[in-house]
Amino acid sequence: MEKKKTALITGGSRGIGRAICLRLAKEGMNIAFTYTSRPEEAAKTEEACRALGAQVLCIKADVSDPSACLAAAEQVKAAFGAIDVLVNNAGITRDDLLLRMTEDDFDAVLKTNAYGTFHMLKAVSKIMLRQRSGSIINMSSIVGVKGNAGQINYAASKAAVIGMTKSLAREVASRGIRVNALAPGMIETDMTSAMPDQAKEAMEKQIPMGYMGSADDIAAAAAFLASEDSRYITGQVLVIDGGLAI
Ligand code: NAP
Repeated sequence: MEKKKTALITGGSRGIGRAICLRLAKEGMNIAFTYTSRPEEAAKTEEACRALGAQVLCIKADVSDPSACLAAAEQVKAAFGAIDVLVNNAGITRDDLLLRMTEDDFDAVLKTNAYGTFHMLKAVSKIMLRQRSGSIINMSSIVGVKGNAGQINYAASKAAVIGMTKSLAREVASRGIRVNALAPGMIETDMTSAMPDQAKEAMEKQIPMGYMGSADDIAAAAAFLASEDSRYITGQVLVIDGGLAI
């Protein structure tokens, strides 16, 4: 029988991260995921993955802390023997126009979204390089490609994710590791439900397909990039946005 693959997903307690955990569990993988602040939501993800037949490891780890990332990666390797798929999904927003944006707002978003990705890449690449295999999926955003008024910090962090994706893809391609990014548009989760209704409606009008995407739409793309069906694809940014960026 083929050995079960193991996926590590950051920020798996809610939203897109939870949908990716469930989808990869359905594909037959062992699931390890992290969260920071909501143990009750993390427990729901854990239970739902188990109900799909997956072995699950739920880890409280703040991705902005490099030692927590290292410890999480080692814990997953010790529990399952390998890390075949890494999804750097954890992310936050702290929106404001430039003149009102504080250094704290800028730092917090860069620390989770950009530094968090960097720390996890370092911790998990070490393991994947030894394995000589792996698929890494980094969560960027259409905002990292196009920019967005009121999101200078978030746009900078998500553009950084694209830069890291392309650079690491070049570094590790010869060692059997692929690195790609997903760039979602407007997806229905807690992150977008925090937006004022007016701003959301204005954005929705700009989507050629006319509606917001679901977390499952992103999970389907993650499952493709995690699978052997994408074995010749690396260094790419896959936009999933109902046509928003056309
Ligand atoms: P969400 O519903 O707000 O969920 C965020 C997840 O990240 C939660 O599981 C949260 O854990 C975790 N998290 C936050 N900070 C963390 C940290 N420092 N360390 C570890 N985990 C942390 O967000 P979402 O909408 O699903 O977004 C997921 C990713 O997709 C993000 O990178 C986001 O930027 C990106 N994205 C989203 C959209 C969209 O329209 N929703 C569009 C483009 C890109 P807790 O539950 O413990 O707080």
